[in-house]
Amino acid sequence: MPSRDAARTFGDSHGNALFCDNANSTRIDHFTLPAHRMPHFPAPIASRLPQVGTTIFTVMSRLAQECGAINLSQGFPDFNAEDLLFERVAHWMRAGHNQYAPMAGCLALREAVAAKVEALYGTRYDLESEITITAGATQALFTAVSACVHPGNEVIVFEPVYDAYVPAIELAGGKAIRLPLTAPDYRPDWAAVAAAINSRTRMIMINTPHNPTATVWNTDDLDRLAALTRDTAIIVVADEVYEHIVFDGATHASCAAHPELAARSFVVSSFGKTYHITGWKVGYVVAPCELMVEFRKVHQFNVFTVNTPVQLALADYMAEASRHAGLAAFYQAKRDFFRDALAGSRFELLPSHGTYFQLARYAAISDLSDVAFCEQLTRKVGVAAIPVSAFFADGHDDKVLRFCFAKNEATLAAACEKLNAV
Ligand code: PMP
Ligand code: GLN
Repeated sequence: MPSRDAARTFGDSHGNALFCDNANSTRIDHFTLPAHRMPHFPAPIASRLPQVGTTIFTVMSRLAQECGAINLSQGFPDFNAEDLLFERVAHWMRAGHNQYAPMAGCLALREAVAAKVEALYGTRYDLESEITITAGATQALFTAVSACVHPGNEVIVFEPVYDAYVPAIELAGGKAIRLPLTAPDYRPDWAAVAAAINSRTRMIMINTPHNPTATVWNTDDLDRLAALTRDTAIIVVADEVYEHIVFDGATHASCAAHPELAARSFVVSSFGKTYHITGWKVGYVVAPCELMVEFRKVHQFNVFTVNTPVQLALADYMAEASRHAGLAAFYQAKRDFFRDALAGSRFELLPSHGTYFQLARYAAISDLSDVAFCEQLTRKVGVAAIPVSAFFADGHDDKVLRFCFAKNEATLAAACEKLNAV
């Protein structure tokens, strides 16, 4: 634990130092306390997740910061949300809405979610029993898995797989069954799905638009999924956090819009992606009441409820549908800007049909592994990306990187200038 031995600085929320300690003493105002080294845990740790290290998003963002590189790795915007959203949060805080929200979420926000989902997907979810506001999509996914997966159950996931899914499955005692989305088109292989389904299959986790491949499922895909799960008790978890970021005139095929799948699905979304506020960590899940009863049994004991003034502000903000409806055009312009700026580079750009990610193959540039190439790109070129092998259990490496283009044009232009020189 080297950091425990180093001098530490503690700060207030503005980053101002409040007090420091060093190897010998700790000064807090006028008290001087004897300091001692933090002792180590006195027994071996039997890890519940022995294969898990630090998420690639944290690793790459930290490296980008250390190197002063332009950070196109972890997926978050470098621009701010509208002032109006902040004004609404301040309004509700000042108006005294600072205590626990109802366990399922503020009614106003559940109403706004119900109205949006009905307008877009034609399904009316019940306010009381079928909508829950969560601490981001991550918590919704984790809670759905914890609530429904029994030890020994199998859960089908598609690889490359978003890194939060498999640890949740394994903590519940389940077994992840990884089915390939094969480069370069990353389409699901429905024959493989049919072959993988058996009496132990409890859940199938899907993600469309897909992180990291930027592919989008269509209604035929959902029909195939519905046919394969028909007459089974399989639960679908549909991670649809990029539901509003679908390009070139395509429409998002939501499980909420497919009556047969809606009846067996947790559909998860995130306000972080939609309103440029990933740091607020607020999302929601909709599901038929039988599934939501189980979800809330866990939700009430792992978060109980989510930040009240933020929920009320989001409810106000959702009233204007153009704020989510305009997102596809907004990000399509960024995608096109980024792709055009890299058109003359040695990177091979794969299609980006949705999300705010762009995959790029670098096989013409280097033989390095994608992890080593990413590190070199960050340290020497000054642009950070995500190695796509991080989304595979066996480190499968197609020499493909993921860039996040949720950035101002100036950031993208500066990054592309560096990438064009590679
Ligand atoms: N699912 C996918 C596919 C994601 O890319 C992310 C991260 N943005 C999440 C879930 C988590 O969303 P949140 O930040 O709302 O927890
Ligand atoms: N979803 C974001 C991404 O894919 C990262 C979120 C996180 O850092 N956990 O980049």
